[in-house]
Formats: sequence, C-alpha cells, structure tokens
Amino acid sequence: MVAFAAVFGSLVGSFLNVVVYRIPAGRSIVNPPSACPSCNSRIRPYDNIPVLSWLVLRGRCRDCGARISVRYPLVEFGTALLFAVVAAVFLVPFVDALAGYQALAIVSAALALCAFLYLAAVSVALGLIDIDTHRLPDKIVLPSYLVAAALLGGAALLGGHWQQLATAGIGGATMLGFYFSLAFLRPGGMGLGDVKLAGLLGLYLGWLGWGALVVGAFSAFLLGGVYGLVLLATRRAGRKSGIPFGPWMLAGAWLGIFFGNAVWSAYLSLIGVA
Ligand SMILES: [Zn+2]
Repeated sequence: MVAFAAVFGSLVGSFLNVVVYRIPAGRSIVNPPSACPSCNSRIRPYDNIPVLSWLVLRGRCRDCGARISVRYPLVEFGTALLFAVVAAVFLVPFVDALAGYQALAIVSAALALCAFLYLAAVSVALGLIDIDTHRLPDKIVLPSYLVAAALLGGAALLGGHWQQLATAGIGGATMLGFYFSLAFLRPGGMGLGDVKLAGLLGLYLGWLGWGALVVGAFSAFLLGGVYGLVLLATRRAGRKSGIPFGPWMLAGAWLGIFFGNAVWSAYLSLIGVA
C-alpha cells in the first residue's frame, strides 16, 4: 500500500504541476489539456508519465525540443515521497482496525488517511504557488476547510474520536486567532492568506494532539526565522524584502505531524513535567 501511495502520489504531483501553473493565472485546471508552452503541441499520454517521461525525453519537448523545467519531475517525485510517508504513518491505525475486523474503525482510519493525503497534495500546491506568486489562493485554502471537516468529522463520527475532533477545533481556532493577531499587530508582516492557512493547519495538527499542534506551530517560526537570518547574513535579502511565510508554515506543520507528539513528550519528560 505504501508503494501504491507513491505511484498515486506521482500522478497527483503531475496534476499539481498543472494546478500550480494555472490557478494563479485564473485558468481552468481541466481544460484545455496540457500542451507545450513553446510550440503548443498537446502532450501525448505516453509522454505524460510522472518522472519517467521527463527522463526519457531528457527534459525536452518531443516536438520542438524546448527545455522542460526539472521542477516538474521534482514535484512529481516529492509528492510521491510525501504520499508514501503519509501512507506509512497513517496505515498503522488502519492495519490495527483491519486486524480487529471492526468495519467502522476501518472506514474511520481510511478517512483520516485520506484527510492527510489531501493535506499533502494541498501543501505541495500552496507551497509552490506562494514561492512563485507570494499568494495563497482562497480557491485552494477555503474549500480545504470543508474537505478537512468532512473527512476528519467522518473519521471522528465512525471511530468515536470525539476528543480528537475537539482538539482539532481548538487547534484551528487557536492558530487562526494567533495568526490574525500577528497580522493585525504588524500589518505587512503576515498576510491574510497566511491567517487562513494557519486555521487549516491548526485543525490538522490539533486532530493529532497538543504535541503536534505546539511543535507544528513553533517550527514554522523557527524554520522561517533561520531562513531569514541566512538570507540577511548572505545579503541576499534586505530587511524589507518579502519572504513568503506559507512554505515555512507548511514545512513546520509537517514536522509537527510526523514528529510533534514524540518531540513534545520528550520535552515534557526533560523538564520533569511528565
Ligand atoms: Zn514544444
């Protein structure tokens, strides 16, 4: 199933390349079919295989020989990797439920897995769009609240995970409030796009628990801060140049998702609380 998730992830990554290219331009993501930006010839289905086609074509269009950016296969590969890791992590409760022959628990675990695969796809798209355009489009962020509510709400309903649903709600509200006050106190620092993304990430982190929420939220500032200092030190950015914060929020959230609860309990035992 992890291998299946990787293959599925590479196909999703291929689609995300289209999303990242077209959503900021306000174009449809289904029509017209993909074409070479240089010569406009349609991409043949056998030239549209994630990662492999780019390697076979050696990064050039079959028709006009124009260079195809290495970013396309990298996005496909990165999404495949992220999907594989998410599947490996979230398969554990799924396999437990399978072993227990509990139908509702199985569906509940499958819904949670889908919720986090969805977040993985959205993270790749939003991270790249923010890097490209310094924007986090509402078109992607706002519907994601509904998808998260439906999938995690369904997982809570079928698996009886009411406490997780409650911490998800608290996490979403806390992150939304925290980022909103940052944007309000220092206008120009944090954008409203960051505020809306923070609420979504808070939902997911809260679902996993307090450790994930604290570590996920804190890591964003740690990563973004270190990156900002490196830029300042190497004089590649002035104090005023805008650095998109979305990619760091997303990277921090994923650190929280994968390691947050482990890091948090290690920290609590270190300071002697638990
Ligand atoms: Zn071409």
